Amino acid sequence: QTIYLSDYKPFGFDVTSVELTFDLAPNCTRVRSKIAFEPKADAERTFFLHGKELKLISAKIDGTDVSPALSDDGLTCTVPDAPFIWEAEVEIDPENNTALDGLYMSNGMYCTQCEAEGFRKITYYPDRPDVMSVFTVRINGPHPVLLSNGNPVSQTEGHAEWHDPWPKPAYLFALVAGELVAHPGSFTTRSGRDVALNIYVRPGDEGKCAFGMQALKDSMKWDEDVYGREYDLDIFNIVAVDDFNMGAMENKGLNVFNSSAVLASQATSTDANFERIEAIIAHEYFHNWTGNRITCRDWFQLCLKEGLTVFRDAQFTADMRSAPVKRITDVIDLRGRQFAEDQGPLSHPVRPESFQEINNFYTATVYEKGAEVIGMLRRIVGAQAYDKALSLYFDRHDGQACTIEDWLKVFEDATGRDLTQFKRWYSQAGTPRVTVKDAWYAGTYILTFTQHLKPSATTPDPQPQVIPIVTGLLSPSGQEVVSSQVLELTEESQSFTFEGLAERPIPSVLRGFSAPVVLESELAENHAAFLLAHDTDPFNRWEAGRSLAKASLLDMVRTDAAPDTQYLDGLRAVMSQGDLDPTFRALMLGLPSQSDLATALHDAGDTPDPDVIWTASEKMRAAQAEHLKEILPGLFADHQVPEPYKPDADQSGRRSLANATLSLLCRMEGPERAQRQFDKADNMTQQLAGLSVLLREKAGDAALKAFEEQWKDDRLVMDKWFGLQVMQADPDQAVATAAALTEHPDFKWKNPNRFRAVFGALAAHHAGFHAAGGSGYKLLADWLIRLDPVNPQTTARMCVAFQTWQRYDAQRQTLAAAELDRMLATPTLSRNASEMLTRIRGTQ
Ligand code: ZN
Repeated sequence: QTIYLSDYKPFGFDVTSVELTFDLAPNCTRVRSKIAFEPKADAERTFFLHGKELKLISAKIDGTDVSPALSDDGLTCTVPDAPFIWEAEVEIDPENNTALDGLYMSNGMYCTQCEAEGFRKITYYPDRPDVMSVFTVRINGPHPVLLSNGNPVSQTEGHAEWHDPWPKPAYLFALVAGELVAHPGSFTTRSGRDVALNIYVRPGDEGKCAFGMQALKDSMKWDEDVYGREYDLDIFNIVAVDDFNMGAMENKGLNVFNSSAVLASQATSTDANFERIEAIIAHEYFHNWTGNRITCRDWFQLCLKEGLTVFRDAQFTADMRSAPVKRITDVIDLRGRQFAEDQGPLSHPVRPESFQEINNFYTATVYEKGAEVIGMLRRIVGAQAYDKALSLYFDRHDGQACTIEDWLKVFEDATGRDLTQFKRWYSQAGTPRVTVKDAWYAGTYILTFTQHLKPSATTPDPQPQVIPIVTGLLSPSGQEVVSSQVLELTEESQSFTFEGLAERPIPSVLRGFSAPVVLESELAENHAAFLLAHDTDPFNRWEAGRSLAKASLLDMVRTDAAPDTQYLDGLRAVMSQGDLDPTFRALMLGLPSQSDLATALHDAGDTPDPDVIWTASEKMRAAQAEHLKEILPGLFADHQVPEPYKPDADQSGRRSLANATLSLLCRMEGPERAQRQFDKADNMTQQLAGLSVLLREKAGDAALKAFEEQWKDDRLVMDKWFGLQVMQADPDQAVATAAALTEHPDFKWKNPNRFRAVFGALAAHHAGFHAAGGSGYKLLADWLIRLDPVNPQTTARMCVAFQTWQRYDAQRQTLAAAELDRMLATPTLSRNASEMLTRIRGTQ
C-alpha cells in the first residue's frame, strides 16, 4: 500500500494533553493512557488511532467503556463532538520485540525507538508528526533508573514521573528503565539556565563517557554562538543502548544512542570513532531546535529536519576540526553512498512523493543530499542572508510542524528571492551532470557550463536546476587572479565571461564541491595536474589528485595501462610538502573506491569487472609505494605522536598520515613494522591500523588471536574484529571469511551492530561481494531471509547492498536476480524488505 504526499490531510482533532502510565514487566508491560482530544471545527464523529501489536485491555471515553473496531494497524471509534477524554489500557511484550522499534529490551534494560512510527506499538495514538502534545509520563518498575522526556517531577523507589512542557509529536517520546549508571555534567545556558547533563550507561562503561560529555557541552555552546539556539529544559539525558537500528535518536530531553555512537575511550575507539561520536552527539543535540521545536508536518518532509541538522552538524565539525578535511570526507561519503543511490533503482527526490514504508527513506539522499541542498542555498543567498532566514524560521515556526514550502518561503521573505526553480532540488531525483569547457578570445575568457539530468521513474521530465558553481581563476604561474565567486548556472547551457585578464587563466571550478553534481571536464589535458600543484582551494587540490588517480585507474582497468606517472609525480610533490596538514596529505593518498570506479565504468558504457578493478587498485597502491619509497620512512617517523593520546584533529591527523604510510611501507618491506606497532600500541587507532596491515600481508593470525583474547568482552571492539577480517580478505576469500565468522559463538546476529560488522563489511568489499560465482549474493540473501522476521528495519537497510546489481555482466546479473527473487518469494516478507527488494529488482 503506497502513501502519497498529495493525499495529506490534517488530523481532525487537537490533542491537548497526554498522560501515560507504564507498569513495566518484560513480557506484559501495561500502558495506561489518558488523552484529551478536542475536535476541530469540521471533525468527523469517528476517529482513527494507530496501534500495532497491542493487546487492548480496556477503552473509555469520558469514563464510559467503549468498544472500538480493531484492525491490524489501529482502531476506529465513535467519539463525541465536544472535547473528550480517551482512556485506554494496553499490554505489550517488550522482551520479544526484536524489531527494536517501539518499547523493547536490550541487555535487561527497557528502551524505546519511536521514530518514525514506533509509538503505535506502545499505545493507541494519532501517531503522526503533525499531532503535537504535552506529555506527562509515570513509570512503575523495580529499576534504579527510570527516565522519560522533559523535566523530572518526582522520583521515589520504583516510581518516577516526568513532565515535558514542550508540545511534541509522538515520535519524540522516549522511555528508559534499567540498572544504569550516570556520567554527570552540567551546562549553564547564556541566559543562565542550569542544565543537568547525564550520559547513562551500563555498569562497566562509565569510563567511556567523558568524551561524549565534552562533545555535548561543545554542541550546546556552539548552537548558542552560531545559531542563537538555547536549550530549553532543566535536564538533558543521553542513554547508550547496545541493540539499536540506527546511530542515535533525538527524543526530547532524552536522546537514545547506539552505544557505538557515544561510548569512547583511547583503548577501545579509533580517532575516526571519536570524530563520528562528536558529530552524532552534535547532530542529535541540534535536533532540539531543528526537528523538535520545529518538526515535520508529515514524513515526506523528513529532509526538513534531517538535511538541516546534517548541515548544522557538518558546520560544527568544520569549526571544531578542519573545514577542508570535513568537506573532503563528506564528499567521499556522498559519492560513495548518495550518488550510488541516486543513480540506481533506489533513486528518489530529497523530498519523496510516495512511499510504502517510511523507514526505508532514512537515506543518503534525504540526509546527505538534503544537507547539500541547504549548503547550496546558503552559498546562493550568502552567509548573512542565511543567518537572517534562519532567525526568521525559528521565530515564525517555533512549535509548528512544517513543510519544505514553509522553509523556502522563509528564505524568499528574508531575501526577496524567488526560489521556484531552486525548489527542483527537492523534487527532482538524480545527480545532475555538469560539463565545463572554456575559451579565450583576445583577452576575454569564457567558461561554458551545460547541465543534464537523466530522466528517471520519479523524474521523467527533468528541468534545469539552480547550480552554484564556485569558481576561481589562476594564472599560468599559479597565482590566484580571480578569487572565488559563485557562478549561478540556471539554464541548460550558460556562459560566464571574464574580462581584463593579461593571459589565459586556468579555471578552478566547483570549489569546495559547491553543488552535488558530477562534473565532466572538457578543459585542457594537464588541467588536473596543474590544480594539484597550484590550486589555492584545498578541496579542489584534493579533487585534482583524485581525478588523476581515477583517470589512471580507469585506464589501467580498460587497457592494462601502467599507473600514470603524472599523477604519481604530483602526489609525491604534495606528500613532500611538510607544511601541509597531515590529514590532508593522508587523504591525498586515498584512491577512489572500487565501487566508485565501477560506477564510472558503467556510466561510460562499459561493464565493470570487479576482479579487474581490484587488481588495478592493488597495482596502484604498489605504484604509490614504489614512487614514494624515498619519503615514506621519513613521513612515518615524523608523524609518530609522542605526546599522551588525544583524539583531537592535530593528533588524529598525524596518526592517519603515519598509518597510511605504514600501509604502503609494509607493501614493500613486509609486515614487521606493522607487528611492532600492533604490539606496542596504547590506543585503538594504532592497534587496529597495525592489525589491518598484518591481515592484508597475510601475517595476522597471531595478532588476530591476541586481539580477540584481549577484547572478547568488549562488544564494540569485537565488532571491529569481526568487520576487519572481511574487509582485509582477498576477493576470493571474503565470502568464506564472512561465512566462517557467522559460525563464531560471538556472532550474535540479532544485534544490528554485529550483523552489520560482518555483512556491512562484506557488502562494502566490492570484489568480494560481487564474486563471480554469486556466493556473496547467496550468503547475504540467506542471512537477510533469516533476519527479516526478527528485524525488518535492519534487513531492509542491508538490502541496499544489491542496488548496483544491474551494472555487472550477464552472469552476475542472473545470479543477483535469482537471489533477489528468492528473497522476494519469502512467504512472510516484511513490508520494509518487500518495498526495498521490489524497487531494487525493478519489477513494479
Ligand atoms: Zn537526524
